[in-house]
Amino acid sequence: MSAQETSLAPDVLDDSVVGQAMYELAEELAPICRSITGNGVRKTLNVIGERIPLKITEVPSGTQVLDWTVPDEWNIRDAYLLNDRGEKIIDFKRCPLHVLGYSMPMQGRVTLDELKPHLFTDPSHPGWVPFRYSYYTKNWGLCLSHSAFEQLEDGEYQVFIDSSLEKGSLTYGECFLPGTTDEEVLISVHTCHPWMCNDNLSGIAVATALAERLSFQRNRLSYRFIFIPTTIGSITWLSRNQARLHKVKHGLVLTCVGDNGQFHYKRTRRGNSAIDDAMIYALKQTGEPHALLDFSPFGFDERQYSSPGFNLAVGCLMRTPNGKYPEYHTSADNLDLIRPEKLAGSLALCERAFEVLEGNVRYMNTSPNGEPQLGKRGIYRTIGGSIPEESLVTMLWVLNFSDGHNSLLDISERSSISFREIRQAADLLVRHGLLAICD
Ligand code: ZN
Repeated sequence: MSAQETSLAPDVLDDSVVGQAMYELAEELAPICRSITGNGVRKTLNVIGERIPLKITEVPSGTQVLDWTVPDEWNIRDAYLLNDRGEKIIDFKRCPLHVLGYSMPMQGRVTLDELKPHLFTDPSHPGWVPFRYSYYTKNWGLCLSHSAFEQLEDGEYQVFIDSSLEKGSLTYGECFLPGTTDEEVLISVHTCHPWMCNDNLSGIAVATALAERLSFQRNRLSYRFIFIPTTIGSITWLSRNQARLHKVKHGLVLTCVGDNGQFHYKRTRRGNSAIDDAMIYALKQTGEPHALLDFSPFGFDERQYSSPGFNLAVGCLMRTPNGKYPEYHTSADNLDLIRPEKLAGSLALCERAFEVLEGNVRYMNTSPNGEPQLGKRGIYRTIGGSIPEESLVTMLWVLNFSDGHNSLLDISERSSISFREIRQAADLLVRHGLLAICD
């Protein structure tokens, strides 16, 4: 799809159109079986790469990355369980969560007692298939709803898991949008969850739309979107990019951004970074209830970016946080759990925050002794003039507080005038030589 054909151009402001486009991306990606490595990740990145320019990197199994090693590559073709009447009672093709992630291949007849240690259920949600994996300990297994598990009868079962675990590579994708400066915003989403829509596909959909929309405009900051498997992916990316991490000034992990819950923003480890200020401002502007969480060293990949050796300013945006909704890491985290309008709201929130990152600078009033005479510059409200009174008031706020200490966001908060209006007034004053940039 070319940029011109997309429904995600920045001038498309209709939330229902934008939300539907993101939802359709999630629908397209949902059936693909992803894991931390393998062809499912490649297929996923290929679909994303039809929308935004994506550079794919393959890192060979066995590569040392920080304190970790890139694992063997896992691929799965089919998996099922037959009872002794030949009935298929577990079928990977109906839902990829039915196989233990990174399961070793297995083919053979087993008794129920032999089978049970290899079956995984979630008794607290008996109707749903849980997401289970064994990335770093070799095992084979199948997952099923607890209610189906309880109906298993004594007898022999035929297990069939057609998987492979062998030398290959870890795959990640990167979309870089250069700005007029090389200061970077890092947006990180994970690409390793099969099936699940809120914890995974919602973040992919919003990040892809953000990249697509940012690519239409001229940005001061450079934006780097990375689509990576969780933990080992961010560790791999960090390991390979250590020499240039100083360029990353702001960062955001996006996940669980499509459900019906209120926004939760998890602050950076530093707690008072520019991305924190920008996100908190954007959250207030929504007028919706929301919650701020302090940094904690668990959750998603923010914990890798925020490890003490890197301490990057990376926050995390979610609606309902991981583990706080019953469908989390189960088959019920499906396309019914995410809504187009919620995806659109998450996109709009990020865009508003990035607008602040783009334009939040400090200025010095070049004519600070008394108000400068705006009339002789043609920007004072005159009878029949085109500048409404609010614009004049906004300019006076900007002039008065542009003393080299207050940023435009500080002035917005102090005046209760939106950042966008404050910035527009500042741009006008800069054009008339009344403000000089401090930063
Ligand atoms: Zn997860």
